[in-house]
Amino acid sequence: MNTTNVKKEVIIMGGGLAGLSAGVGLSRAGQSVSVFESDSQVGGLSRTVSHGDFRFDLGGHRFFTKNKETEQFVKDILKGEYVTVNRKSKIYMNNKFFDYPLKPANALLGMGIPTTVKAISDYSRERIKNSFREKECISLEDWVVAHFGRTMFNIYFKEYSEKVWGIECHRISEEWVSRRIEGLSLGVAVKNALFKFSGRKVPTLVDKFIYPPMGIGRISDGMKEEIERKNTVHINTRVSEISHSNSMITNMVAKNCNAAYDISGDEFVSSIPINHLVSMMNPAPPDDILEAVSKLRYRDLVIVTIMLNRERVTDLTWLYLPEKDMPLGRIHEPTNWSSCMAPKGKTHIVAEYFCFKNDDIWNSTDEELTSMTVKHLEKLGLISKEDVFDSCIVKVAKAYPVFEVGYNEYYSRILNYLNNFKNLHITGRTGMFKYYNIDHAIESGREVADKIIQDL
Ligand SMILES: Cc1cc2nc3c(=O)[nH]c(=O)nc-3n(C[C@H](O)[C@H](O)[C@H](O)COP(=O)(O)OP(=O)(O)OC[C@H]3O[C@@H](n4cnc5c(N)ncnc54)[C@H](O)[C@@H]3O)c2cc1C
Repeated sequence: MNTTNVKKEVIIMGGGLAGLSAGVGLSRAGQSVSVFESDSQVGGLSRTVSHGDFRFDLGGHRFFTKNKETEQFVKDILKGEYVTVNRKSKIYMNNKFFDYPLKPANALLGMGIPTTVKAISDYSRERIKNSFREKECISLEDWVVAHFGRTMFNIYFKEYSEKVWGIECHRISEEWVSRRIEGLSLGVAVKNALFKFSGRKVPTLVDKFIYPPMGIGRISDGMKEEIERKNTVHINTRVSEISHSNSMITNMVAKNCNAAYDISGDEFVSSIPINHLVSMMNPAPPDDILEAVSKLRYRDLVIVTIMLNRERVTDLTWLYLPEKDMPLGRIHEPTNWSSCMAPKGKTHIVAEYFCFKNDDIWNSTDEELTSMTVKHLEKLGLISKEDVFDSCIVKVAKAYPVFEVGYNEYYSRILNYLNNFKNLHITGRTGMFKYYNIDHAIESGREVADKIIQDL
């Protein structure tokens, strides 16, 4: 680590994993760090929520990385506080539960023999066509049809992708899917199952992972504790304005329930949503930048947790629910990740609803969301409503950046504008509008810290 006598005031906006990782790196290098987080706890999308004696992540969060340094960084933060969890998931299609990742027999059973034959012939036709002339792919639909065939697209990709992203597959950018094929778990699972496409272990298919017994939020809590040994993390404090002059950020306004504070600093790190960052600039950006900001969208999420008077419901890590008539996208049972997540003899199910802020799901009342979730869990044969004794709803804004066809033009425009500011550094999934997982968010925060330290 580069240590120096030069000490800078670094202001970090957002206390998710990216902002906190930057804070840890800078604190370790002896820099002065202040983190500002609008929520009442740190961790952002990777926080663990407490509700009475129950704990749950915002959709079960599995930490996995191929990068040994990142793995060691997280293990050091957790100080040995982790267990190893076996991954066991299922997918529910055509009224049946199939092992997930799919196995060849599953995939065949799932589709039936005639459809499987059609899928294989479609796939072969696309491969032959592509060997003569590589098809130009613009959307997720183009790309999946070219690589898997139309039948597979219709069965395995269309409904789930549209459920997750909230737009039709021909409007989801190809760039996202082609770069993410290793992470597109359904795609790899299907291709492996039907064509034995690759025997390699890909990150989404690993069968063991480490997990903090008190929930994934312990990683962020550990980082906060480390930063606070020498520096400050302000929770419940929202950044509301960012002032600049001569291509430098000069100061920002942060508000809590008591007052608004004017904060100055030498370097500013932002892990808050990129469109918020730009719209808070004072003086305001030119109109073409504001137009670009209005075109970038995030997908939001509603988490409904149902508390049950039962020891256990499943033995699963996740259960995927791709079908359209089932409004939930995925569920998990936190007690299968760690028994500390619920009081003895009780368990809970966490359901994820992908939505847009202010749509019907987002605007539903807690009672409506609870009864819809209980109804669907009963329909799946998992629970009986007599077992339910409590529920907890969490609405999560900006959970997924949406990569709509054409987004890149607007995104590049915004990046060019932000690059003008010499002491502004953007980082993380939400801050950079990237489909980052935990490991990438941590790495991007640490990279920003290294860059600031190297430039001292
Ligand atoms: C449902 C779901 C499941 C996931 N599962 C996994 C998984 O299994 N494995 C995995 O590796 N990854 C998973 N991820 C991804 C993982 O959650 C993210 O990569 C990671 O948490 C991103 O961290 P971040 O710091 O970049 O962003 P964020 O967590 O979004 O942090 C940004 C922070 O900024 C704060 N903020 C926003 N505006 C302001 C403001 N004006 N002032 C101050 N603070 C502000 C927010 O409150 C937030 O804390 C999942 C994500 C989702 C949505």
